[in-house]
Amino acid sequence: MRPDTPAENVDHHAEAARLERTAGLYPEDAEALLVRAAAHLEVAGDRSAASTLYDRLLQSESGLENPNLVRALKASNLWEYDHEAEARAIIDGVRRAAPRDPAAWVVVAEALESHDELEAAQDTFTEGLTLLLGDSTSPEPPYATRPLLVGRHRVRRMLAVAHDEWDTLADSLPSSSITLDELHDPKRVWSLGSDNPAELEAEINRLRAELDAYREALSRPFPVAILHWPAAELSELVAAYPDLATEYPSYEEHLATIESSLRELAASGTANLGIVPGTFPSYEAFAASEGASPSDATLLPQYATTLAARGLATAWPPERGAACWCGSGDTYAECHGAV
Ligand SMILES: [Zn+2]
Ligand SMILES: [Zn+2]
Repeated sequence: MRPDTPAENVDHHAEAARLERTAGLYPEDAEALLVRAAAHLEVAGDRSAASTLYDRLLQSESGLENPNLVRALKASNLWEYDHEAEARAIIDGVRRAAPRDPAAWVVVAEALESHDELEAAQDTFTEGLTLLLGDSTSPEPPYATRPLLVGRHRVRRMLAVAHDEWDTLADSLPSSSITLDELHDPKRVWSLGSDNPAELEAEINRLRAELDAYREALSRPFPVAILHWPAAELSELVAAYPDLATEYPSYEEHLATIESSLRELAASGTANLGIVPGTFPSYEAFAASEGASPSDATLLPQYATTLAARGLATAWPPERGAACWCGSGDTYAECHGAV
């Protein structure tokens, strides 16, 4: 079971259209789905279409769950296509609104950062963290605040300021194999040892792409999710569509594959990983809405992405001491988290 994320293989316009369609089927999840659809339009470079979606959300009558995140995303998108004044006004408004949602802070701080407003970006990260962490010095900050700690660390490295307690905390967070200090070192490009300008330029471009991918993964509030079929749902699924038995030989193997796929993704530096529960009726409904047969295994990752876009995924790995994602009742460390 592979998540369908290799960015270069995605038809972003088609993906956005599919998410908009799904939003029509599940109006209660429209906010999460349309935010994700807008993200695809942004990646496709269709920034005005993305703005239209953000505006549609902000005008919705039912009221948004997270209006400040939508405003933040709208501002960030506007600034990317020369609507700087409007973007700045929205960013100021989001900061004044002091949202309790870390993602809104990350998006506005990164918008400032990517336009070289490093001081303002640092202040924004700090405001968000002050609000969300207060003076807690817990070594286990809430999962959702981690991108704020990491972003603040990155900006402060670029400003060449000394580490404070939050930077040290950011360094202690489990992340990819490359350390934050290395990744955020503004001088890293100069220590590569090549004096060939073409090689150096290629290396700088590579690092920039790496950093952009990293930022994007951190700032986008939706996870790369792997499907988890609870035992009863899986037997119903395989009984109705025996072709899927190749994908799911047994429940135990299904569980083991979920864990190993997620570990592989984490080791390759993919951030924001999650697990999303599938159900037999909703999978059949999904297949019908796509005009496809439920036996078609290529539908499975799309189904997972759609569920995740509806906000149904839970973050992986579970927090320390938390129950295993498989539902066994044991802690994660004693169950699928065991080495
Ligand atoms: Zn550091
Ligand atoms: Zn388990």
